[in-house]
Amino acid sequence: MAHPHHVRTAERNGESMAVDPRESAGRLLRDLRTRVEGLTEREARRRLEVHGPNELPRHRARQWPAALLRQFTHPLALLLWVAAALAWIAGTRELAWAIVAVIVLNAVLAFWQEEQAEQAVESLGEYLPQHCRVRRDGHARSVLVTELVPGDVLLLDEGDRVPADARLLSGAVEIDASALTGESSPVERAADLPDTALRRLDSAVLVFSGTVCTGGAAEAVVHATGRHTELGRIAALSVRVRIAESPLERQVRRVAWLIAAVAVAVAVAFLPLGVLAGLSWAQAFLFAIGLIVANVPEGLLPTITLALAAGVRGMARRGALVKRLSAVETLGSTTVICTDKTGTLTRNVMRVVEARDGAGEKTSPGFKFATALASCATADERTSSGDPMELALLDFARSSGVSVDAETRDQERVRLFRFDPHFKRMTTVDPSPSGFVAHVKGAPEEVLARCTSTLPARGGTQPLTGAARAALAGVVDDMADRGLRVLAVAKRDFTALPDDRGTAESELCLLGLVGLIDPPRPEVAEAVSACHSAGIRVHVVTGDNGRTAAAIARQVGIGADNVVDGPALDAMPEAELDGLLTSEQEIVFCRAAPESKLRIADALHHCGHVVAMTGDGVNDAPALRRADLGVAMGASGTDVAREAATIVLTDDNFATIVGGIEEGRRVYANVRKFIVYIFAHLTPEVLPFLLFALSGGVIPLPLTVLQILAIDLGTETLPALALGRERPEPGAMRQPPRERKQSVVTRRMLLRAWGIMGSVSAILALAAFFAVLIGGGWRPDTDIAADPGLHHVYLQATTATFLAIVFCQLGTAFASRTDHAALREIGLGTNRLLLAGCAFELLFAAAIVYLPPLQVVFGTAPPPSWVFAGMVLFPVLVWGADEFYRYRVRAGA
Ligand code: ADP
Ligand code: MG
Repeated sequence: MAHPHHVRTAERNGESMAVDPRESAGRLLRDLRTRVEGLTEREARRRLEVHGPNELPRHRARQWPAALLRQFTHPLALLLWVAAALAWIAGTRELAWAIVAVIVLNAVLAFWQEEQAEQAVESLGEYLPQHCRVRRDGHARSVLVTELVPGDVLLLDEGDRVPADARLLSGAVEIDASALTGESSPVERAADLPDTALRRLDSAVLVFSGTVCTGGAAEAVVHATGRHTELGRIAALSVRVRIAESPLERQVRRVAWLIAAVAVAVAVAFLPLGVLAGLSWAQAFLFAIGLIVANVPEGLLPTITLALAAGVRGMARRGALVKRLSAVETLGSTTVICTDKTGTLTRNVMRVVEARDGAGEKTSPGFKFATALASCATADERTSSGDPMELALLDFARSSGVSVDAETRDQERVRLFRFDPHFKRMTTVDPSPSGFVAHVKGAPEEVLARCTSTLPARGGTQPLTGAARAALAGVVDDMADRGLRVLAVAKRDFTALPDDRGTAESELCLLGLVGLIDPPRPEVAEAVSACHSAGIRVHVVTGDNGRTAAAIARQVGIGADNVVDGPALDAMPEAELDGLLTSEQEIVFCRAAPESKLRIADALHHCGHVVAMTGDGVNDAPALRRADLGVAMGASGTDVAREAATIVLTDDNFATIVGGIEEGRRVYANVRKFIVYIFAHLTPEVLPFLLFALSGGVIPLPLTVLQILAIDLGTETLPALALGRERPEPGAMRQPPRERKQSVVTRRMLLRAWGIMGSVSAILALAAFFAVLIGGGWRPDTDIAADPGLHHVYLQATTATFLAIVFCQLGTAFASRTDHAALREIGLGTNRLLLAGCAFELLFAAAIVYLPPLQVVFGTAPPPSWVFAGMVLFPVLVWGADEFYRYRVRAGA
């Protein structure tokens, strides 16, 4: 055995265990110093020390200078650099420095915000630790993927992600390697295939980390973990994946550019106007620059990214892991949810409550019936792993006197035809005294169709007549109507081993029926009614019986107006399906094959709906990818489904989807709130300039460029951020989903921002300006420049404008907190962050007005104290105007 020190040196050289995975399985096992029974738990722990955890290193540290640099060089920042350079050339060093300060502050803030956003997405992994199955100490067990080591014997099953590079020892699997090789069609990998490929990646006996197992089952020995895997090698070459831009961010970027363009246009137009008003070209030039700097919304985008990231965090806490930032906004616009029944609407904790014999009579199962239930299963009661329904059946068999140890059962079994959602049944073949016995369980119509005889409880096999068939179908319907999940159980004896599924599942003898209850989750009914009041329709897509599904759907309040079964759906023309889905009905799709989900998702999308579609199996992956939002189950689903989905529910709960929708709506609404807020300063800032220009300079300029900068980039920043944390507005879930095409900035928002709050602010600010100016002795025919006595009055007057805008912004902030509700409904003090932001705003403004060094920079002088008596009313007036508008809208005026 290698000395630990020696192994560490090898590790550092990047050859954790110098083995050739393509040598014979026996030699490979020997070289990896392991056996088919697996490592011992102790040896595995030791190897974990030596080889390190099975995960890929992250490249955070090295990336940040580039990310920070990007913040200084994106197009809007470049525009500001140009402005700074022009200010410098024009000779106003102060302004140039101020602009540079703005760029730096913004870059640092944006960088911090994006880091936060990335962290929020990256930390999602911690909410859902990945597990895989290995054999250690001779027993199968589930371990964390990160704790996998070379030499571990991996048990791969359908739907599993391959957690490390490994060589197959037995069995055969179908592998989807598209993530690694880009090859989209699945490939066969089997332990006994000849290994003739040129590339290691194409070897028929190897499987690689980053690929998924879409079918079959196999055992494999791990030969490389973590960064020594092929995936690790590729990952080391490529840079970190950047967060893709969401439609919302794209829209906001467009809006930002639009505003920037308008700002530049206004500034260029101001140049001649300013000169006409009596400014020198140099002065006019500076004002133009000021207008640009003030109105370029450079901070908008990172703030929105951060809001989305905060949404991702909030959703993760509520049990919905969102893999893309954009999913947050899509969730908010969801119009239809297509949900599974088992495990999502129900608890997936099943219990057998009723058994019927082959004649359909109520009974307690006999030996053969119970044996069939115990044998025809892959679940393991001892470790409670496997399908919850099978666990319930095993429990029931045990209470009927038949208990089988899962490990012995699996070893003795000679054939396993797995449960397949298309066939809706499964079959096992075991040795028996007379040769072999096949046990079948599955959906009653599937199993009954393959039965030719029945076994009543009193004994004596009976041929299955047409009348008996009809009677049994009636019994099944009756059980299903009570919300029971019904399974039929059958057997057949063979003298020779049946080779194919068809033979094993023909000429069966019906042993009986079992009815299981799977009670709805208690929180689902409320979530469904929340969906209904939010204008969201809920369809159920299930493989189960239509009557069972409809009964459960009604129990939780889903309409179930129409029950469409798989064959009917398959036969339905597109137009008819579209008609069905655009009607007001809620539909239960039952006995649906996984492909039906794809078709339903497609049709809904075609009809303009935003669809959230749940799924858990391998076959659900295409539908999960196609739906606007694929929702996978974190607790019970397969890795394949989780990989394909955009959202993973850690608790598999339907109610969590609805929580996510609420969170999505909240985030989107909050983005709009702060857009309204920061847009509102435009009118009070531009109007003074216009007044000055249009009066031909008779009215002195009411607000200076640096004061504008102090507002846009100083006083109003924190309240804007705080609006992103606003709680959902009352009634947010009583409104229909927003239109998919609707822009993030609506006309109504502009009306509120510019027309109402902006106009009132502008009037108040000008009123404050003139009050101070006239109170100080200014008259329209006075020339301020010629009268040194008035200079101080002018400083006071511009300061009054500045302060008035700041006070008005307080009102705007509180008005922006709601879109339509009254402020009274949400409470004045419910957003603590906003209160803090407002306090900061006032302190910042006070510093600018009262601290001498800042007075010099910003050209301020404290206005007479009587001005403040009026100004404290300003927030109330601005807020009141908007409150009145919202009241009118609510009243339907
Ligand atoms: P769902 O999860 O939506 O209820 P499934 O596709 O899992 O639907 O199952 C469809 C039907 O297949 C079930 O109603 C049941 O009759 C049958 N079935 C499900 N699981 C098993 C199993 N492990 N063995 C045999 N039959 C099963
Ligand atoms: Mg199922």
